[in-house]
Amino acid sequence: MAKPLVVITGASSGIGAATAQAFAAEGYPQLLLARRIDRMKALGLPNAMCRVVDVRDREAIANAVKDAEEKYGPADCLFNNAGIARLGDITKQDPAEWDEMIDINVNGVMNGVHAVMDGMVKRRHGTIVQMSSIAGRKVYPDHTVYCGTKYFVHGLSDSLREHLAPHDVRVIVISPGIIETEVLDHVTDKTTLANYRAAKVKIGGGISADHVAQSILFAYKLPQNVLIQEICITPTRQGY
Ligand code: NDP
Repeated sequence: MAKPLVVITGASSGIGAATAQAFAAEGYPQLLLARRIDRMKALGLPNAMCRVVDVRDREAIANAVKDAEEKYGPADCLFNNAGIARLGDITKQDPAEWDEMIDINVNGVMNGVHAVMDGMVKRRHGTIVQMSSIAGRKVYPDHTVYCGTKYFVHGLSDSLREHLAPHDVRVIVISPGIIETEVLDHVTDKTTLANYRAAKVKIGGGISADHVAQSILFAYKLPQNVLIQEICITPTRQGY
C-alpha cells in the first residue's frame, strides 16, 4: 500500500534534513520546505517535492501543502520543525533578533498547524510533530527569548493535543537537548557562543540529528491509537 504524505518544515539542514532522510528510507513521499532549495535538492530523496517556503508566510505553506496533496494524497504527518536560535544576553541583544525568533518559532509553527489541521480533523487521521526543545521545559543562560518561543510550543501543543485527541489526531512534542547541527551558526553574541561551546565540550559534545529523526519515525509509525506525547532526547551527559 502506498505510504501517506509527510510534510517537513526546515528540511534543508540539521534535524529536518535527517528526518527527511529517515522517512525517505521507509518509502514515504514528502513535501520538504525551507528557504535553501539547493540543500533540499542535494539530499537527492525520491518522491520528494522541494519548495522554497518561508514559514512566516502562512499562504505559501498552505499552497505548498495543497500542491503536494494533489500529487501524493492527503498529508498524514507534519514535522513542524523550522526554527532559529539567536541566543544572547537580553540586556544587550538587538530586539530585531527577538522579533525574528518570535516570527519564525512561534508564528511559523502556527502557520504549519494551520496548513494541515482541518484536513486531518476531517479525515480523523494525522500526526503533528512539534519541534520544541529541552529549553521549552526549563530555562538556560542567554536563552531568554528562545526559551519563550519554545515554552510557547509546549503550551500550544498541550492544548492542541487535548483539542485534537477526540478527532484521533496525534500531537507529539519533541524536546531535544544539544544536537550537532548548524543551529548556532548565526549567534552574534560572542560571549554567549563561547559559553555554550564550553558547556558542550564539557559533556562530550552533542548527539547526531539522526537519533532525533529515528525517534520521530518510531513515534509516528506506532498505531494511530497510540500516542507518545513528548520525546525529550539529550546526550546522556547533558544532566541539565
Ligand atoms: P538548523 O539550523 O540546521 O536547521 C534549521 C532549519 O530551519 C533549516 O532547514 C532552515 O532552513 C529552517 N528555517 C529557519 N528559518 C526558516 C524560515 N523562516 N522559513 C523556513 N525554514 C526556516 O538547526 P536544527 O536542525 O538544530 O534546528 C531545527 C529545529 O530544532 C529548530 O526549531 C531548533 O530550535 C530545534 N532544536 C535544535 C536543537 C539543537 O541542539 N540543534 C535542540 C533543540 C531544538 P533555511 O535556512 O534553508 O530556510
